[in-house]
Amino acid sequence: MNAFEFNNPTKIIYGKGEIKKLETNIPPQSKILLAYGGGSIKSNGIYEQVVAAISDFKVTEFAGIEPNPHFETLMKAVNIIREKNIDFILAVGGGSVIDGCKFISAAVHYQGDEWDLVEKGLARKQEKVVPFGTVLTLPATGSEMNSGGVITKASTQQKRTFGGPQYFPVFSVLDPAVIQSLPKRQIANGIVDAFTHVMEQYLTYKHDAILQDRISEGILQTLIEIGPGIMENPKDEKLAGNFMWSATMALNGLLRLGVPTDWSTHMIAHELTALHGIDHARTLAIIAPNLYRKLFEDKKEKLAQYGKRVWNLKGESEIEIAEKAIEKTVDFFESLGIDTRLSDYTEDYSDTAQIVHDRFKERKWLGLGERQKVGPELAKAIVEMSY
Ligand code: NAP
Ligand code: FE
Repeated sequence: MNAFEFNNPTKIIYGKGEIKKLETNIPPQSKILLAYGGGSIKSNGIYEQVVAAISDFKVTEFAGIEPNPHFETLMKAVNIIREKNIDFILAVGGGSVIDGCKFISAAVHYQGDEWDLVEKGLARKQEKVVPFGTVLTLPATGSEMNSGGVITKASTQQKRTFGGPQYFPVFSVLDPAVIQSLPKRQIANGIVDAFTHVMEQYLTYKHDAILQDRISEGILQTLIEIGPGIMENPKDEKLAGNFMWSATMALNGLLRLGVPTDWSTHMIAHELTALHGIDHARTLAIIAPNLYRKLFEDKKEKLAQYGKRVWNLKGESEIEIAEKAIEKTVDFFESLGIDTRLSDYTEDYSDTAQIVHDRFKERKWLGLGERQKVGPELAKAIVEMSY
C-alpha cells in the first residue's frame, strides 16, 4: 500500500428531516448567500425547509446555477458577495450548484482574472476563501464531501477541474428524502457517475491494498443491488439512503488512499460534455467501456477480479471473465436507460475524436491514467470506438 495522508474535514449530517439542523451548523451572525439551481427546490419542498432553518440569518438568494455550471453565471454571484460583504455560502443542489459554490468561494477574494483560478490552477494557492456548507439534492458527484469542482467557460466551451483542501464544505446535509422528486434521468445519472468514480479508483492494476479493493467492490455491489429499485421507487427510504451514502463514499477521498488511480475516463468524458452538452454521467457511460476495451491488456487482471467479485462471473479463463465484466458494465448502464454510444446522443460527432485529440495535445496531456498511457492518440482512438 502506498503512503498516504487523509484528512476530510466535512461534517456529514445524514438523515430524513435533518435540513432543520442548518440553523445550528452555520456560524452565528453569518451573512449568507443561498445559492441554488433552476428551481427544482421550489417545487419539492426543499426550499421551504431551508428557508425555515435559516430564518435567523441575513440571507441573499442567488438562483440559476445551471447544470455544468458556467463561469459567467458564477461570476455574478461573486460580485454580489463582494458588494454585500457576505461571509457564508449555502449551496442547495446537486454537483453543479456545489461545484459552482466552490468556485465562488475561491473567486471572491482573488484579485485578477478569476478564470486563472481554474485555467492556471491558482485555486489551489488561494488562501482566503469564503466558507460554505451544502444541502445535497442529487446523489452523484460526491462533491458534498470532497474538495474538487468542475466548471465550464461557456464562451469557449472549456470544462475544467480545480480543487484544493480549502474547498471541502464545512458541512453537508444528506437527507435521503430529497431523492423523491428526482426524475429517472437524474437518478440513473447519479448511479452511473458514482459507479464510475469507484471504477476510476479501482480498475487499475493489482496491488496489495486489500481493504481498499473490498470497499470499492462493496460500493459497486451496493449500486448494482439498489439501482433498479431506486429507479422504480425513489420513495423507498432504505434504497434512497443507501444510494445517497454510496455516492458520497464513492468520491470522498477514501477510495484513493494508498492505491493507483486512473481518472482518464472523466478527462475524456468532460470534453464530450463541453462539446455536445451531454449529461456528465452519460459521457462516462460512453467512454468507460471503450477505455477498458482499449486498455484491456493493462487492466485485464483487475477486470477479472471485478468480474468475479462484483458480478459473480464464471468462465473458462481469466480473459473470458474480464471480457464479460466489460459487457456486464455496459448492460448495467443500458438497463438504467443510459445509452453507451456517442451516436445515441448526437449526429454531429464526426470531428469529435480529432477535437478531443487536439485538446489533449493543447493541454499537454500526454499520459493520463494509472500507467500514464492515455495521451492524445489513445484518447482519440477511445472516442472513435464510441461512435
Ligand atoms: P446537476 O447538474 O447538479 O443537476 C442536474 C439536474 O437535476 C438539474 O436540472 C437540477 O435541477 C436537477 N435536480 C437536482 N436535484 C433535484 C431534486 N432533488 N429533484 C428534482 N430535480 C433535481 O447534476 P449532478 O450530476 O449532481 O452534477 C453534475 C456536475 O457535477 C457536472 O458538471 C459534473 O462535471 C460535476 N461533477 C463533479 C464532481 C466533483 O467531485 N466535484 C464529480 C463528478 C461530476 P435544478 O437546477 O432546478 O436544481
Ligand atoms: Fe463524475
